[in-house]
Amino acid sequence: MANRDWNISKLQVLRQCHRKFYFAYELASRSFADPFRRKAHELSKMKNLKMWQGTIVDWMITNEILLYYQEREVPDYAAVAKKGVDMAKKQFEFSANRFYHDPEISKTESGTDYAILDVHESNAPYTEAELQGVYQTIEEILLAFPNFQSPVPGKNMEQYLLSARFLRPDAKTLKYEYEGIKIQPQIDLISYMGKSMHVIDWKVVEKADADYSRQLLLGGIVALHFSRERYKKEQWKPLPALEDVRLFEFNLLNGKFKEHVINKDSAANALDGVFLLSDEQEELSQSRPWDELDIEDYERTDKAATCAICNFRFLCKQIILNDLNYDEGQYTQLVQHQQLQPVTV
Ligand code: SF4
Repeated sequence: MANRDWNISKLQVLRQCHRKFYFAYELASRSFADPFRRKAHELSKMKNLKMWQGTIVDWMITNEILLYYQEREVPDYAAVAKKGVDMAKKQFEFSANRFYHDPEISKTESGTDYAILDVHESNAPYTEAELQGVYQTIEEILLAFPNFQSPVPGKNMEQYLLSARFLRPDAKTLKYEYEGIKIQPQIDLISYMGKSMHVIDWKVVEKADADYSRQLLLGGIVALHFSRERYKKEQWKPLPALEDVRLFEFNLLNGKFKEHVINKDSAANALDGVFLLSDEQEELSQSRPWDELDIEDYERTDKAATCAICNFRFLCKQIILNDLNYDEGQYTQLVQHQQLQPVTV
C-alpha cells in the first residue's frame, strides 16, 4: 500500500462525497498554471463567516495567548482581543479585494491578512450586522478566555494553563505512522500535567457533520505515541499509557468543555475507520498522479443537504454543464446569478 497522509478533514470529505474529495484532495493545486486546479484550491480554502470567526479565535489562542502561558506569563487580554478584531478586518478587506486570486500576491507575503471568504468568492449573502457580529464574537471570546472552566476542578483556564508542566500548542505536525498510513490529526493543544496529557480541541463553530470524538481519539493516539517515544529516548520510566491520556473538546462559544473517553476499544475503532477509508481512497486513485485520474470515477453524492453546504457546488455544477471541462467565465456567471437561480447539482 502506498504511504498516505491522513487527517480528519480528509476522512470527513471522503465520507460525504467522492467528487468533493476529488476537488479538495486530488485536483486542488496552489499553482496558477492550471485555472481549474487553482479554483479547486481556492474553494478548498474558502470559509463562511462563522468558520472564519472560529479560525481567527483559534489562531489568536494558538499564536498569541498560549505563547504567554508557555513562558508562565499572563497576556494583556484587551490587547489580544483588539489584535484579533484588527486581524479579522484586514482579512475581510483582503478577501473583498480578491487578492487571493492575484498571482502577483503570494500567500507567504500576505501573512495573516490572507483569507478567502464565501461572501466574496461565492457571492454568499450576508448583512453588515452579521459581519459586525463576527467581530464582536471574536472580541468577547478572547476577553472571556482566561475565566473559562478548565478540566481541573477549581481552576479557571488561566490557572490551569499556568499550572501545566508543558504546553504544546498547535501540535498539528505530530504524526503517527502505522502500516504505511500516516495519521496527522489537527491537535490544537497538548497540555502536559505530570505524566498525563490533555489533548484539547478548541471548537468555535457548530458543525452538524463534524466528528469531534474521532478527531480527538486520533489526536490522543498520536500524542501518546509521541510522548512514549520521548520517554524511551530520555530513558524515563514508567512509560505513559492510554490511561494517561484525556481528551477534551472546548466549546469557546459557551465556555464549556466535554470529555471524550479514550480506551483500547475506542482507539481501535478510530484507527479502523482510517484504514477503511484509506482503502477506499486507494481503490479510487490507486496512487496515480492527478492527471491520470478520471473525475467520473469519483461519484457525486445524492444528498442535497451535503451539496447545499459544499464549497465546490458552483464548480461542480459548472463542469457538469460543460462536459466536465472548467470554464472560468461560466463559473463566474453561475456564481453571480445564484440568487436568481439556486444551484442544484
Ligand atoms: S456539490 Fe455535491 S456532488 Fe458536487 S462535489 Fe459538492 S457535495 Fe459532491
